[in-house]
Amino acid sequence: MDNGALVLFSGGQDSATCLAWALERFAHVETLGFDYGQRHRIELACRDRFKAALVRDCPTLAAGLGDDHCLDLAVLGQLSDTALTRTAEIRMREDGLPNTFVPGRNLVFLTFAAALAYRRGLRHIVAGMCETDYSGYPDCRDDTIKAMQVALNLGMERRFVLHTPLMRRDKAATWRLAERLGGQRLVEDILEETHSCYLGDRSERHAWGYGCGTCPACNLRRKGWEEYLGQDTART
Ligand code: ZN
Repeated sequence: MDNGALVLFSGGQDSATCLAWALERFAHVETLGFDYGQRHRIELACRDRFKAALVRDCPTLAAGLGDDHCLDLAVLGQLSDTALTRTAEIRMREDGLPNTFVPGRNLVFLTFAAALAYRRGLRHIVAGMCETDYSGYPDCRDDTIKAMQVALNLGMERRFVLHTPLMRRDKAATWRLAERLGGQRLVEDILEETHSCYLGDRSERHAWGYGCGTCPACNLRRKGWEEYLGQDTART
């Protein structure tokens, strides 16, 4: 389907915004999540809740929402020894990458996404990789994604198009994009129903959403939200 898309949808802020972006742009949009034994598995539970909220609050935008898929990639947990999949303190390593880094994770995700898109006849693959204000994961970089698109198209004899609408956006810009796509209702749904915290903590609701408030993902989310609000105030 030339006008069909598959969105890598984890249940976090970025992929929720990507889902809204894809729904505005493509006639038919399916979603894909991965279960790889992540500590923040609560994120997976947020997927259904966010989609239900989207259908309820932004029905026009959600009109093209199609099937959801969830793939079990538990093997990633066997391959990695990181703070994302086992109980360890999240900290920065000597090479500047956080110890949440799972080597090549996004390459694996995109390969499975393309295999599913192939089977479902979907041409467009949308993912929330971003090289602006994140942790320098090499598999989130624009060059990596472009190289993956070439490799997948050669290896599967397809003409997939990989879209990364957040690649050049920081978190504040990602909130502004959500506002443009679905107004305050979408912003509220993302605040309430998505999850970013690495520790899977949803015990406390902050102004910027749920989370432990101290891990790198929470810090980034809070900072982005405050910048977004600040710019908002400056505008009005
Ligand atoms: Zn946290």
